[in-house]
Amino acid sequence: MAAIELRGMKVVNAVKEALSARAEELSSSFARPRLAIVRIGDRPDDEAYLRGAIKRCESVGIACDLNAFEKSIKNADFLDAFKLINDDPSIHAILVMAPLPEGIDFGAVKNMINPAKDVDCMSPSNMARLFSGDASAHAPCTPAAVMEILKFNDIPISGSRVTIVGRSLVVGKPLAMLLLAENATLTICHTRTRDLADECRRADILIAAAGKAEMIGAGCIKPGAVVIDVGINVKEDGALCGDVKYAEAAEVAGYITPAPGGVGTVTTTMLARNTLDACEMMKRDGK
Ligand code: NDP
Repeated sequence: MAAIELRGMKVVNAVKEALSARAEELSSSFARPRLAIVRIGDRPDDEAYLRGAIKRCESVGIACDLNAFEKSIKNADFLDAFKLINDDPSIHAILVMAPLPEGIDFGAVKNMINPAKDVDCMSPSNMARLFSGDASAHAPCTPAAVMEILKFNDIPISGSRVTIVGRSLVVGKPLAMLLLAENATLTICHTRTRDLADECRRADILIAAAGKAEMIGAGCIKPGAVVIDVGINVKEDGALCGDVKYAEAAEVAGYITPAPGGVGTVTTTMLARNTLDACEMMKRDGK
């Protein structure tokens, strides 16, 4: 294997002491940072992320409340319950597990969430701030994790050619904005991209966020490139894999994240960091 593996735990271990210190300071001077997680139904896909998020946040001193609602809850009842959580001054941050079941007005939730508590950047106002380059907006956790991995490993971003495969509002688009703010030269690919392999091969940094198991092979990678695999897919045998064919990609790339064990591992740490940011802002604003 030629590539250097960029393991998520290295990043997590490097920042967790500083996060714990911030949580301790807030607990003694203001309030214990508190994150409300909102979930409707019991989608098995959410389980691993939920467990990881709670474990990571609690490990640095953040209190986590899991607000679980039955899948059968009526839209109006859910919005009433959500309003109470949103208005509770002892809650500093809110994470809503998406997608929400049919019948629940996700648009209303996005518009209702207090942007100051919106630690995964789902509200249109936070997204607009992010797109307008306002660094005080909470960046969504997965794109923030990608940025943290690049910075922690001293990967040059400014001037680099970066190709992102995927243009969702959860990963691809906000990540593009964060990279642009760091002066990357960007290409964003999607299902209508004419020659995906060619676009990918041009990249100094290739970011796969398509949600298609092992779709990126060695032929899509420029020798020595940095490959960041955001994808989390379940194979037929139940095993998890990324969007990149790890073994063959690692023969060509210079650096590569494993999946699992890469971006996903850092995402929950970004959730903890955004929660602390939210709590510090409320302390500063006297709320
Ligand atoms: P979406 O399904 O919302 O978006 C996928 C994007 O990839 C779309 O823009 C789609 O293009 C594009 N795409 C899909 N197939 C291809 C293809 N064959 N060629 C080119 N482009 C393609 O997914 P998300 O953005 O929500 O998630 C992407 C992946 O990241 C998933 O595997 C998800 O599990 C993972 N993820 C990981 C997280 C983490 O913490 N590590 C957190 C969030 C997501 P088009 O727009 O044309 O349809």
